[in-house]
Order: sequence, then C-alpha cells, then structure tokens
Amino acid sequence: MEVKVMKNILGENDALAAENRRLFREKKICVVNLMGSPGSGKTTLLEKTLSKLAGKINVAVIEGDLFTARDAERIERHNIPVIQINTAGGCHLDAAMVKRAAESLNLDEIQLLIVENVGNLVCPAEFDIGENFKAVVLSITEGDDKPLKYPLIFKESAVVLLNKIDLLPYTNFNLENARADLQALHPQIEIIETSCTSGAGIDAWADWLIGRVN
Ligand code: MG
Ligand code: ZN
Repeated sequence: MEVKVMKNILGENDALAAENRRLFREKKICVVNLMGSPGSGKTTLLEKTLSKLAGKINVAVIEGDLFTARDAERIERHNIPVIQINTAGGCHLDAAMVKRAAESLNLDEIQLLIVENVGNLVCPAEFDIGENFKAVVLSITEGDDKPLKYPLIFKESAVVLLNKIDLLPYTNFNLENARADLQALHPQIEIIETSCTSGAGIDAWADWLIGRVN
C-alpha cells in the first residue's frame, strides 16, 4: 500500500516537473537543482558563485529552507531576484513548490535559475523539479563514505562539488577513494574540488555553469 502511495506522489510530481521543464525551455532558462547535506556549504558556495557570474549572465535563485529566510537574505545582498520557499518541515522541494516560486519571477530576464534545495542527501534526489541538471555539494568534513551510502543523489547529479577541499589535510577523507566511488557510481559525473576559503575551483564551477546557459 505504502509503495503505491509513494508511486502516485512521484507520478504527480513528475507531471508537474515536466510542465516546469517545458516553461523553462520556452523561456531559455537553464535550471540547476543544487543539493547537499546541511552544512555542506551550499549557500556560501552559491554566494561565491554569484560574485563570479555577476555581469556575465542573469541569474535568479530559489532558496528552499525548512523554516527560516536566512539563506535568502544572504543571497538578496547580491542584488539578484531571490524567492524563498519554506517547506515548514518538509525535507525536500517538489515541482509544485518550484512552479509557485517561479510564478513570482520575471522569467524573461533570467538565463540561469539556481534552486538551492533543502539540506538532505536523500529525497531531494527523488523529486524532479523540472531542472536541466542536478548538482550535489559534498564537503570534505562529511566523510568519503557518503557516495556509497547515498548513491542515488550521486547517480542523478551531473556534477559533484567536493567542497571545503582546503580542510583535506585535517581530516581522514580519502580523496582517491571518494573519486573512485563516484566514478564507479556514475562514470560521467564531473568532479570539481572547491573551497570558499581559498577560492579554489569557484572559477571552474562558474565556467561550467556559464557553459550550460543558452
Ligand atoms: Mg543553505
Ligand atoms: Zn523529503
């Protein structure tokens, strides 16, 4: 019974996600679903990325959060359109939430829409929101065992940002093992090592995004 309910929920979500995708394609907007654990550094990485993209492409952000508007307030300082979604405890964004949020944006003026999902390595990967691609932030402090423990999100993502790479010497994170696991799960996955402290990899990530914009 439970399996059937979940199938129906995902089926309804997929239909709405397809609508979102059609709309975004029509408006020539590239949409990124940015996922990762709480504390992996999604918002800080996003802020650094926005600084690199400023003046190059028109970006808007949708911020998914359980309760607060803290991340959206941080993004607002970059003078770009930002819409806050509070899931009121919900552990992922779905296509309906993104559809409603997108209605508040001027889609004719956006080339890249970055959606920061709720911090969670599990169900955000199961809910299509109509994005062009998924990106997952995995920070060094989370441990190198995460790709094998949460395989779906890494299989679904076009790119993984190995964040806080500057902390590598202070942890037992085995970079070689992590890379091998990621490649085994998803041979085409792009791996970019990033640090918001040293600035490493932010240019590469920004360029990757610019390369996806129409
Ligand atoms: Mg955040
Ligand atoms: Zn969830």
